[in-house]
Formats: sequence, C-alpha cells, structure tokens
Amino acid sequence: MRQGSLYTLMFHGIVSSKPDHFLYGPNTNCFVREKDFEKLIRYCSKKYRVLKLKDLASYLNGTATEDGVLITFDDGLQSLYTLGLPILKKYNATATVFITSDWTNKGIQPAVFSLEYLLYHHLPATVNIYSDGFIYEKRVDTKENISPSIDAIWAKLFENKISPLSLTDQQITINSKPLNLFEAEPGGGYWKPVSWEILQQAVKEGTIEIGAHGKTHTPFAWLSKEQLENELNENKEVIEKKLQANVTSCSFPHGSYDANTLSILPEYFTYGFANKMVSTQNKIEKLNITRYNVPFQRPNNIPLLIGYPFLGKVLRKFGSVTGLF
Ligand SMILES: [Zn+2]
Repeated sequence: MRQGSLYTLMFHGIVSSKPDHFLYGPNTNCFVREKDFEKLIRYCSKKYRVLKLKDLASYLNGTATEDGVLITFDDGLQSLYTLGLPILKKYNATATVFITSDWTNKGIQPAVFSLEYLLYHHLPATVNIYSDGFIYEKRVDTKENISPSIDAIWAKLFENKISPLSLTDQQITINSKPLNLFEAEPGGGYWKPVSWEILQQAVKEGTIEIGAHGKTHTPFAWLSKEQLENELNENKEVIEKKLQANVTSCSFPHGSYDANTLSILPEYFTYGFANKMVSTQNKIEKLNITRYNVPFQRPNNIPLLIGYPFLGKVLRKFGSVTGLF
C-alpha cells in the first residue's frame, strides 16, 4: 500500500489585510492574510488529512496511508485566535501552537517587534541598541530601507549572541528616545501574544493543541546543557500547569538547534520541530521535523510547494508563481 507523506506548515499569525507599515519581504515571517488562510485550510481539509499530534506516530513508523498536513503556529499570537480560530472551526481542523511561556506571561509584544511600526511613523531615524556593553547604531532614511535595516539589526544581534526578544523597550532607541516613550502600536501589535485564558478555552474546545517553544525564546544552540535543561523544563512545566495539557512537542525558537539540543530534547519531548523552508516528505526525523514557512505573498502555492519542495524553493526565490486556487 502507498505510504502517506507528512507535510507540516508553519505560520506566525494572520492579518485581516496588509497594513501600511507591514513591509516585510514576500517570503518572511509566516504571516498570511485572513482570506488566504481560509483558502489554504479549505484546500488542506479537502485534499489531505488535517492531522493532530497523535497522528504523527503513523507517519514516523511508515504505517500512514493518506497524505497528511500538520498546521503549526509558533509563538501563540493573538491573531490566531481572533482571525484563525473561526476558520479552523469552520473546517473542523486543528492547529498546533508552540508557546514561549515568558512571552505569554508578559502578555505584550516584545520591544524589537515595535520597530517596524515606529520607524514607519518616525523617519528619518537613527536606531540604537544597547545591551551589556554592546552598542549598535543603524540609520534609516526611507520606507524602503526599513525592512532591510531591521534585517541588518537582527543579523547583528545574532552575530553577538543577543537574543532579540530579550531586549526591553528601554534598550532600543529611535532618535535617542527609548521605545517605551513612543505611542503604542494599535491593537498591541501583530506580535502580541494571546492570553492563557483564551488558550485554555481553545484547548478545551479541541481547536488547538499545545507545544513548547522555550521559556525565553533564546536560540537553543546558544545554551549550555544546564541552561537548555532549565529553558525546556520551566517552559514545559508552566504550560502544563496553566493549560492542564500534556506537552509532547517543542519547536526550536528561531529554528536554532545543535547536537546538544538533540541529545537533551528527548528527556522532555517526543517531537522537535525545526523551521526550514521545506516541508517534510519521506524521511522524517522525530526530533527534527522540518516545516514549510508559509509566505505572505502567494501562500496559495502551497499545493505546488509542498508537493515539490525543491521546485517550490526555486520559484519562491524568484517570486514568480501564480496562485493555484
Ligand atoms: Zn518563535
């Protein structure tokens, strides 16, 4: 009998329409429009089996006979609940949501994500970042430069092993003014986490399943054995306590992992999810399940892209695929 393929999709969030300041390039960040998300879920529910975490076992041991799609969201953002949940319910689909417990506890968008909105409204600008003796300055003059500048800031932070999400709104300044002194982003921003209460409700209804995503969202590859154990253990404990759910899966913050991660992970979790540009096809490693990062532009190419990951990668690079729906 034919063996079923496993496809995993990764999202961050959903927007009702493209906001003015939402400038990220076509392939980054895994946000999609509400109408595209609906098309996608409708397509997946018609064409594939929409999976729950417990179904993964049959794809790993090769007994699955149908092609299956696992829908995953990293970070547990508010938009999944306001815009995504009604669609998931409509098609009777379940999504797995990976939670960073400190982020959910704080309940606000991490400072670094406010840069896009604030720069859009305060150009020309000089951005400064301060962290333990690290100082970085970036000049941004035009709207076209916002997105590349934010990419450059992130790259510099990674180069210096500063976790972007650990920066407070006082460690980032625009034109010498700390971010906490600027106006708030409408609705709390696109990276605002959903509350534990709403998560609890959605778990109860069965619309979502919960996974772990680190306590602090620090890249796992930066952590020592002991630090990683704390990061995983505390994350798992808090989520299980808050949501009364058994957490068996973990997705790697920023897609970062190393040999240390893969050796420690099984003490806490059955499945690990990486964050790559391709979806999984035949050979599946349960500690390193790859996911297809759903792009903002033309997410509807999913049937093509997940069916032919290599072709999809090439086409996506040139942004030249037309929607298949
Ligand atoms: Zn994340």
